[in-house]
Amino acid sequence: MDCLFCKIAAGEIPSRKAYEDDKILAFWDIAPQAPVHILVIPKTHIESMNGVNAENSKIVAYIFEKIPQIAADAGLKNGYRVISNCGKDAGQTVPHLHFHILGGVTMDAGMIK
Ligand code: 5GP
Ligand code: ZN
Repeated sequence: MDCLFCKIAAGEIPSRKAYEDDKILAFWDIAPQAPVHILVIPKTHIESMNGVNAENSKIVAYIFEKIPQIAADAGLKNGYRVISNCGKDAGQTVPHLHFHILGGVTMDAGMIK
């Protein structure tokens, strides 16, 4: 499949890894929007939040189990924000489910412009 994040998950395209196991990969965003900007992806292809269903939702729970440790390992002692853009209006540019971990700066209370 011609999917950028599937290729990153497979190691075919290099990334700066923050965490990896057999099910998920966390890697640093190539165009960071905060001092810490890490993407967490399932290694299996799910196109977006709209592709989450009863068969594959365990991987989403697993990602959320791991996010606190990934954030702590990145030094995010004072908190962080987790975002998943779904579809065109949200600005999703890579059609493989991913969760942005953003931190290392005090963010505005507003979550959209
Ligand atoms: P989206 O806009 O779909 O929510 O997020 C996609 C993210 O992937 C963007 O923040 C973008 O900077 C990041 N990105 C796109 N291509 C690459 C890449 O080849 N490597 C890494 N590490 N990040 C990428
Ligand atoms: Zn994919």
